[in-house]
Amino acid sequence: MSRIPVSKSGIRPVARNASLQRHTQRFLELRRGLEQIEYFCKGTVLKRMMKCGKAQCACASDPTKRHGPYFELTYKANGKTVNVKLSPPAAPLYTAAAKQYRKLKTLLNRLDKLSKTILRYQAKLAESKRQD
Ligand SMILES: [Zn+2]
Repeated sequence: MSRIPVSKSGIRPVARNASLQRHTQRFLELRRGLEQIEYFCKGTVLKRMMKCGKAQCACASDPTKRHGPYFELTYKANGKTVNVKLSPPAAPLYTAAAKQYRKLKTLLNRLDKLSKTILRYQAKLAESKRQD
């Protein structure tokens, strides 16, 4: 799993520091991306066309005559799906916010992976110092 050689004759401290520096640099670069995140919102915006339920209405038989569009924000909270109705002018705001949320999640995942890599390096350094 670890890309860092575990043997004592493994990579020299200089090479190890160079990798660590590269990872640290990348971490700082990615972290700057957090500042570019706009207002965000967990969930997905759905666009729905609905039947009104009246038997005489054209929507009952013709799918192209359904009413709408109606917009809804849907997301999970505590394991339950939550639906929030959105007005047509609000829908694009939430669509953009949901996109920002996905961007934030991608960024967090990358930062998490990178942090773990750096932590492994730091742990090795701490361990090697203890053995001296
Ligand atoms: Zn109808």
